Formats: sequence, structure tokens, C-alpha cells
Amino acid sequence: MQQLSSGEIVKRYRSFFVARNHLALPGSSLVVPGNSTSFIIAGMQPLLPYLRGEVAPLAPRLTALQRCLRTDDVEQVGTSIRQNTAFFMLGNWSIGNYDKRTTIQMALDLLLNHLGLPLEKLWMTVFEGDRELGLSLDDVAAEEWRRLGVPSEHVVPLGAEDNFWTMGGGPGPCGPCSEIFVDRGSELGCGAPDCRPGCSCARFLEVWNLVFMEFEKHEDGSLTSLPQRNIDTGMGLERMACVLQSSDSVYSVDLFQPALERLQALAPRDDGSPQALRARRMIVDHVRAVLLAGLAGVGPGRDGRSSVVRRLIRRAACQGRLLGIDQPFLGSLLQPLVEGHGSLLTQDEQKRVPDLERLVTNDEVMFARVLSSGLRELERVEPNERGIIAGEYLFKLHAEKGFPADLASEILQERGLVVDWSGYQHASADHRIVSRVSVQKHFH
Ligand SMILES: [Zn+2]
Repeated sequence: MQQLSSGEIVKRYRSFFVARNHLALPGSSLVVPGNSTSFIIAGMQPLLPYLRGEVAPLAPRLTALQRCLRTDDVEQVGTSIRQNTAFFMLGNWSIGNYDKRTTIQMALDLLLNHLGLPLEKLWMTVFEGDRELGLSLDDVAAEEWRRLGVPSEHVVPLGAEDNFWTMGGGPGPCGPCSEIFVDRGSELGCGAPDCRPGCSCARFLEVWNLVFMEFEKHEDGSLTSLPQRNIDTGMGLERMACVLQSSDSVYSVDLFQPALERLQALAPRDDGSPQALRARRMIVDHVRAVLLAGLAGVGPGRDGRSSVVRRLIRRAACQGRLLGIDQPFLGSLLQPLVEGHGSLLTQDEQKRVPDLERLVTNDEVMFARVLSSGLRELERVEPNERGIIAGEYLFKLHAEKGFPADLASEILQERGLVVDWSGYQHASADHRIVSRVSVQKHFH
């Protein structure tokens, strides 16, 4: 398999669809207009007015590279091999123009003949039908994959949970989807006899979702056919790069390499532990999210989107401590990230990075004071006779001093101490009732 850089994947994807009469749109800002708390979370989000038929698009065939940022799965970053906080999404769309078969034909053509993936590594899922929705197996999609040469056993029917796309479960345009997975090799698998796409292990990586928007879901859950059938696809750039660069995870693709090298220079000691690996991945992932948010005009702060950025800086700073870095360092990773991203960032954006670096460093310095005083506290804390630290203590450290509980727990673990998490939950629940505010709106 040919090794392709992220920039090259974007170039090939875009020129493939432009050559097939798609209009290349510039990606939208990461910031949702008219809303102070949200980021764009999916590649299709800026195109919703077209997909819903509210606004006529400039052309019926569209393609774009969209920046997205979501924190719902932030806890999995670094542990899972496939989860980025911020990510790039490639997509092609048809607004009432081409059908399911054409979508599938183009997708396979691009994967095999332009990105160089071997057919035997590809697996497809299709919608198996759902009694409640009154829909049967998507045999058109299944049949088309097989007609194009995908072996039957590589076409896997899955239920509505995996293969029926809706807008967050609510009313709106929706439809069955077909997901494309790459088999990264049995050595990465869990070994279970039924290990296949949809399994949570690292073997099968979903790289592209083709959504066939055929229905409108109504308030009462009923479906009616859309007058205009749309196509909405999304390919995760980091995941495709992971496959085409034979990387062990989305965190070690070319986009992150210079930042990882810089981090290695800052923290050369590596005990090879899962914690250290997770820390390095989290740091580059979070700082990249901070970079993209900053370029969209969102710096660290107390409220809304800014509080998400601040929390990412703090989480990354904590991980730095775990790696033995005791100086502010996050800002110094921005330039290597810019280098790794190359042409994915504009010249104008690259010029703004030094300002952003100062913002990030200031926020990190502020947080370092919180960390230092918290660490002194933690050295003094005494467990009960069974080596357990009261959860309430950790909660107070968090609520009163801003010291993250997960970091405190990891530090205490090194001393062989255990935290009473149920006590922590109780203290946290009591606190919520008293103050009636959600402590961490964006993070659990
Ligand atoms: Zn598995």
C-alpha cells in the first residue's frame, strides 16, 4: 500500500469529486454562527439548509473539507486509537442529484484506484432493517457492493443503532447509511470469533460513512419519504491517514509527528506505560484542538466555547506533569503542529500562531499555580487505615482550588493509595443540589 500524506489525501479526494462535477466549497468556521457555546461537530452541519431543502445550493454536487470539534468522547482520547477532539472531515454531497448506487460506485473507485487501498482490506456495513421503523434490509446498497466485487462476507448488515442516521435522534432528514471499514490486520484484533466491523477492538477502523437521506422523521417518530433524496458522506481525514500511513493510531499520523517529536524532546524519559502513551496522545490531540479553536477566534476563558478551550489546556497541562514536565510547554507545541498540518492551514492562519502561543502560555501559567499548591496539599494528605482517601477530600480540592480530581487520583495511585469514588460522587451530587449549577457542563 502506498503511503500518502494527509495533504495528499485531501488533494486526491477533492480532485476526484471536482472531476465528477462537484463544486469544492471552502470549509466553514469551526464556530457555529449565532450561538456562543457550540462548535461544528460534523462535516455536514454547515450544509444542513441545503440538505433540508430550505436553501438552494450553488450546485447540486458539493465537496468540502470541514474542521470539527467535539468533546462528548473526550475521556476516550488517548485510550481509544480512533478518537480526536478536533478533526478534519472530508465529504461529498448530492442535493437531489445522484443515487445510492452512484455514491457507492464513486466511493469504491476513490478508495481502490485513487487512494490505493486493497479490496481485500475493505469491509462495508449496510442497514439490516428495523421492525419499529417499518424498514427492511437495504438490499440495494448490499447488492451494489457485491456487484462491484466486494465479497459477500465483507458486507455486514447492522441495525438501526449503527446504520440508520438521524439528526441526533430527533426529527429531520434521516436515512440508512453504509459505513466503510478498513481491516488493519488480525494481529490488532480481539480474537473473538465474531470480531468484525462494529467490534470495539482496534482491528476494524471506520473511515467513511455514506448516508442515504431518504426520509423525514417527524415529531411522533413516523417516517415519510423525502421528495428529494440527498446523499451525505463523511470521511475522517485522521483515520484515513492512520490507515494510509500504517500508523498505530490517529494520534501518530503526519499531522502530529513534529509535535510528538517536540514532546519527546521535552519529556525524553518514557517508561513505556499505557499512562505515558495516553498522556502523549492526549497532549497533542488537545493542543491541536486548542490551535484550531484559536484560529477560529476562540481563546481560553470562563464561558461557553472559551471554557471548553480552557478545560482542554488544563487537561493537557496535567498530562504534562505526569510526563515529568514542570514548565509551561503547551504553547511551544503550536508551531510544530502548524508544521505538521502544512497546507491544511492558510498562510494567514500561520501568521496568527505566535499570538495564540502567548494566550495559551498565559493560561497554562495561571493553571500551574493551581497545580503547584494542589500538589503540595496532596503530599500531606493521609489515607484511612485501609489506604483509602476520602472522595470528599478530592471533591473539595477540585471545587475550592480547581485541582482536577482525575489527576489527583493518578498521583495518589503512585503512592499506592485508592480514592473512594462513591464518596466523590456523593459530595459532587450534594454540591450540585446546593449550587444548582453543573460544575463541568462540557466534560463529565
Ligand atoms: Zn474485535
